[in-house]
Amino acid sequence: MPERSESDSRKLLRRLRDVLGAQARGQERLDQITHLIADSMRTEVCSIYLFRDPETLELCATEGLKKESVHQTRMKLGEGLVGRVARTNTPVNTADAPAEKGFRYMPETGEEIYSSFLGVPIQRVGEKLGVLVVQSKTARQFSDDEIYALEVVAMVLAEMTELGAFTSDEDGMRALHRQPVMLRGSTGQEGAAEGHVWLHEPRVVVTNPVADDPVAEIERIRAAVGQLRVSVDDLLSAESLDKDQRQVLEAYRMFAHSRGWLRRMEADIQNGLSAEAAVEKEQSAARARLEQVPDAYLRERLNDLDDLSNRLLRILTGQGADTGAEMPENPVLVARNIGPAELLEYGRKLRGVVLEEGSVGSHAAIVARALAIPLVIHARRITAEALNGDHILVDGDQGIAHLRPEETVARAFRDKIAMQTEAQARYASLRDLPALTKCGTTISLHMNAGLMADLPSLSGSGADGVGLFRTELQFLVRNKMPRRAELAGLYARVMDAAKGKRVAFRTLDIGSDKVLPYMKPNDEPNPAMGWRAIRVGLDKPGVLRMQIQALLRAANGRPLTLMFPFITEFSEFQQARSHVLREVHRERSLGHVMPASLEIGAMLETPSLAFAPKAFFELTDFVSIGGNDLKQFFFAADRENERVRRRYDVLNLSFLDFIGQIVARCAETGTPLSFCGEDAGRPVEALALAALGLRSLSMRPASIGPVKALLRRVDLGQVRAVIDAARARGDASLRPALMDWLATQTD
Ligand code: PEP
Ligand code: MG
Repeated sequence: MPERSESDSRKLLRRLRDVLGAQARGQERLDQITHLIADSMRTEVCSIYLFRDPETLELCATEGLKKESVHQTRMKLGEGLVGRVARTNTPVNTADAPAEKGFRYMPETGEEIYSSFLGVPIQRVGEKLGVLVVQSKTARQFSDDEIYALEVVAMVLAEMTELGAFTSDEDGMRALHRQPVMLRGSTGQEGAAEGHVWLHEPRVVVTNPVADDPVAEIERIRAAVGQLRVSVDDLLSAESLDKDQRQVLEAYRMFAHSRGWLRRMEADIQNGLSAEAAVEKEQSAARARLEQVPDAYLRERLNDLDDLSNRLLRILTGQGADTGAEMPENPVLVARNIGPAELLEYGRKLRGVVLEEGSVGSHAAIVARALAIPLVIHARRITAEALNGDHILVDGDQGIAHLRPEETVARAFRDKIAMQTEAQARYASLRDLPALTKCGTTISLHMNAGLMADLPSLSGSGADGVGLFRTELQFLVRNKMPRRAELAGLYARVMDAAKGKRVAFRTLDIGSDKVLPYMKPNDEPNPAMGWRAIRVGLDKPGVLRMQIQALLRAANGRPLTLMFPFITEFSEFQQARSHVLREVHRERSLGHVMPASLEIGAMLETPSLAFAPKAFFELTDFVSIGGNDLKQFFFAADRENERVRRRYDVLNLSFLDFIGQIVARCAETGTPLSFCGEDAGRPVEALALAALGLRSLSMRPASIGPVKALLRRVDLGQVRAVIDAARARGDASLRPALMDWLATQTD
């Protein structure tokens, strides 16, 4: 068989484009295309398999195999040679297909007589769309040129699929971007929302995968790459860069200037692709490699290439991140990831957020939580599936997004939202009532906050105050260190909005997952147990002191409450406290008005502090249990790690016994104790904490109603009896016994 020439390839692509341009049904087009490819590649068979759903491939058109098998033959991802091409995203080329490992014979196709097999993935920027196969009777290995030519054709098919060229009729094929899709991710923030997709960075649409004039296309790509290189060089010339940032950008620049990259794209163009399709072809190849690279550093570099390809596409198509599209009603933001400042800019306009990446502790998740916007993270493929304006349901409780849902699903979902709204209305009627249990104990309920935007919830939710104000959010959403006057102004506004209610300001809790964009990141093997929170504050006290000064000035004669995160031993508390006292002295000598009263507390987030000397409990004005961290260290289960984070229950009796010991230690010295981790906002958990003796709980504002409603229904003495019985039986978790008991409580 003769080698293919570049012009063979171009001729084929041009014929493909003509098929696309002509009026035809989707199936007719596919049939014509398989015919054209078989003819051009001089093979007896050409078949197109497309994904019917993410796990199933379907034979959608063929030249050479039995026609009756079209839309009948299906295979799972990874099954047979076709399935292997799809799973690995790499070509399979064999002269003896039946002898190949994993070969599966499909009797209905009549393919047993074909010995040679070449299959290449049909993919678009990492999105798997299908597999293109050619087969022939004579046993032969296809040449590199032929593989390459088939890959170029597959690229054009991918673009055509994307443009909906094959989905114009009722042929039962996968209707890309039209079918309902359910994406299972994880919970970033609870809550339910219905709305329309708003893509943070819309996909670039390539409308011309095939080009006639390679010379002109090569000129275009060279000009665009030139422009890209200048913009990357500009980034590097910024004076504010530190050494590390510069190093990262140098690697980025190296890719932008890579000759190999440009050479590969020029070769694609020589074979008939347009400049845009050539960029996407190389981007797809890089994404396929990305999936297979275990090394984090290399993955980062391949990510750089991905990012550069996006920039190049935007230059070529003139489609900026801002496409001028209008934000739909009830927007639900969909993105691979998003920075905290950008998310904050969208603010409460958004009904929900769905991210492909992210983590429970990511800055975006922290902001979404502060804004009380339902958030689903790890929703794989959402950016590939969603189009601007698509109908979407966000189930933050289950960590699921329904894209273009069936009406029945949407109806059930609306019922769920209505029930939640109804429940909220019921809770609103409790707003001004205390969380008074049947046995006559009042539990004070506070809210967690971190943004000025949270404060309107204070009166609406019926909270007694702010039990935890996470000050780091103000630092995270800026691109430079905030100044003292700025912080003082902000803290003063927070106190104004609290209208005399107590606000417990937690000093900066950075490090671990919370890395400030303008601070040098520390490469630590285990950041959650590393240089974080008060450890940073004590080692580099400049920022801590500035923050204390800002708080003192903000109080300006009003009472002030502050607490330190992550205190592990008594001496740390003593040192942190003495910084406060020194600043009080200094501020007073500068003539500033001092707070009417000053409470200095500690967060108990590591088990060691529970065993601190009595003197600690005597000295601290209060203790606040940071249950999120305390739980992760008690169970040695990373709160960010999806594999283990739900493995241990806060209602585990060993953990509850430990909380009981903390309650006893505080009681011994009369030290006020509160609990401000996420578990305080879960009604059943809150009930157990109250039964153990906690009299103050701090939670997200939306939880105050449900927690209060449950507390008002119960007698804590009876809950204690349930705990004692469970302990006596040797139960691992209190949950089953407590749920059984709750079920017997009728009113
Ligand atoms: C905690 O650890 O429980 C806590 C309230 O602090 P954060 O979640 O901000 O670490
Ligand atoms: Mg914490």
